[in-house]
Amino acid sequence: MSGYDFDLFTIGAGSGGVRASRRAAGFGARVAIAEQRFLGGTCVNIGCIPKKLFSYAAHFKTDLKDARGYGWSFEQPTFDWRTLLEAKNREVERLNGVYGDLLNQSGVELIRGRAKVTGPHTVEVDGRTFTSRYILVATGSSPTVPEIEGAEHCITSDDAFFLDRLPERVVVVGGGYIAVEFASIFNGLGVDTTVVYRGDRVLKSFDKDLGHFLAEQMTRRGVRFRFNTEIQKIERDGTACNCVTSGNERLPCDTVLYATGRRPNTAGLGLESVGVALAPNGAVMVDKAFRTAQASIYAVGDVIHRVQLTPVALAEGMLVADSLFNRGAEHMDYSGIPTAIFSHPNVGTVGLSEEQAIACGYQIDVYRSVFTPLKHTVSASGDKVLLKLIVDSKSDRVLGVHMVGDDAGELLQGFAVAIKCKATKAQFDATVGIHPTIAEEFVTMRTKVGA
Ligand code: NDP
Repeated sequence: MSGYDFDLFTIGAGSGGVRASRRAAGFGARVAIAEQRFLGGTCVNIGCIPKKLFSYAAHFKTDLKDARGYGWSFEQPTFDWRTLLEAKNREVERLNGVYGDLLNQSGVELIRGRAKVTGPHTVEVDGRTFTSRYILVATGSSPTVPEIEGAEHCITSDDAFFLDRLPERVVVVGGGYIAVEFASIFNGLGVDTTVVYRGDRVLKSFDKDLGHFLAEQMTRRGVRFRFNTEIQKIERDGTACNCVTSGNERLPCDTVLYATGRRPNTAGLGLESVGVALAPNGAVMVDKAFRTAQASIYAVGDVIHRVQLTPVALAEGMLVADSLFNRGAEHMDYSGIPTAIFSHPNVGTVGLSEEQAIACGYQIDVYRSVFTPLKHTVSASGDKVLLKLIVDSKSDRVLGVHMVGDDAGELLQGFAVAIKCKATKAQFDATVGIHPTIAEEFVTMRTKVGA
């Protein structure tokens, strides 16, 4: 038993913080967690969960259209934003309660208020001081908006979850996860949607085929793209806005959504004054064991700005709890992390892109298939899917599995296991397909691209 109030004091009750705290308490540690806002953090409140609900809502437009090809007929469907908003809010509140119960049941003390680190072992929460053997910073990240004229007229994803009413026209700025997801949501809900991106293809950090193919498919569904374009300024025009682009085009709209990345939440936490080093972007700098420059202080999740994904924060949080209180492994394996982008259509990916594999020095074989899935032969929607495999030609190991198409997020999870197990192309080929599915094509692709 240490002479501190707690063994672990976690700041931030989001995915990483809650998981680490519960796990540590499970090992017998005395744990407190401070939270100034909502339980569950970004993912539950203003991220993954409400976004996926919005994404489902937006999908019904195409689903209903597809249904007509199958013989269904109905009057022109209408959509009510408030109904969706209220349903979303109810689900988020339910999850907030679940998080509270989980903390309670695992014996973690929840301290409401804004925490500040005041020493290697002390945290102050709204005037109350607590001591702890270890401190874990899990404060997440927030959207950033570049400094341009009129930036005050734009919103970020934080605001998009609470809009009073659905805009008629939206401009989405950026070409990453949030930009393509929200552009798909707005477009699916019937909003006139334009994406403005400074590069020449969205999802730049992914395999190049994915971004090109996704933009093609989104364009078919009605989203407009302005590539190689930046916003110079945003002018307010009554209740509307004009986005003035680098090409001197004026894009009139009701809402401008900036999805230009997220910044670690470290401002005002007092970290630097207790010897914790921060990177220029504000991220907490940690070693392989998530230890900061101050040995008793750790950090996980978005605030360390490594991989900004909920399941990664969960894994990091568990690892810290295990290593501190259960003599577990100290290092996280970041290889083969699968990820999905819930755009319409979905993107799912695990392992190396074609470009990364080449840059790593692999000699590769590429298998690519673009086809119309059975569902859309009858719906006549024209939707196509893209599947791609990257294989190391020397060892035959599958290095990357990539997909754009319906349910790519669901589908790629299983392939992520195969990648983790270092499956070879011969093992993919020896696997019997499930017919008729999209995924069976992953085990029946035999022709190399260009061969
Ligand atoms: P991303 O890093 O994915 O994308 C940011 C985009 O903004 C890029 O296209 C970038 O362009 C562009 N950009 C950056 N700065 C500027 C600027 N000054 N002017 C114009 N464009 C700019 O960030 P997001 O905000 O989309 O998402 C943040 C993170 O949240 C993601 O990286 C992801 O880890 C996580 N997330 C995960 C989701 C999921 O798992 N489904 C869903 C949503 C978010 P460029 O490419 O040229 O740098």
